[in-house]
Amino acid sequence: MNASKKNSRKLILSDPVKRPLCLRVYPDPVLRKKCAPVTTYDRMIHDLANDMLIFMREHKGIGLAAPQVGILKEIIVADIGLGQICLINPKITHHSGSEKLEERCLSLPEYFLEIRRNTHITVSGFDPEGKKVKMEIQGLLARVIQHEIDHLHGTLICDYAPLRKGGGIEVLKN
Ligand SMILES: [Zn+2]
Repeated sequence: MNASKKNSRKLILSDPVKRPLCLRVYPDPVLRKKCAPVTTYDRMIHDLANDMLIFMREHKGIGLAAPQVGILKEIIVADIGLGQICLINPKITHHSGSEKLEERCLSLPEYFLEIRRNTHITVSGFDPEGKKVKMEIQGLLARVIQHEIDHLHGTLICDYAPLRKGGGIEVLKN
């Protein structure tokens, strides 16, 4: 998920030694695939989570899910300015409240949609070291986490768009 209206498409990581991640953009089929849970917490997962955080910031995003960089694993990262979060195998165990707000997505550049989501969630999962974590989250961060977990199931913001006559999706464009 991204906050700014202008999306940078730069694909350069700050550490040139690492393999650069590549942003997957709709309708790339990888965005529709279901991710597999992480079962081994090794150096590769740790480095990938770090790279995703760097990549997200370079693209002015506030959230990123692994399939957006072509990796079908249950990993999401987020940072709305209150500290970075990396969640592996995240599951929402409780949710309440609802609010409709505009959302954007790095993988659907130039599109935006108003989406109703829960305002309060409890999410559990693991950190990159494999330590179990449980967080109660509200507001914008709760929205970002719900958006990123959607990506792990192949769900995109355009799926929330009202159906058009004839079955097509209506996507608002800038
Ligand atoms: Zn997204």
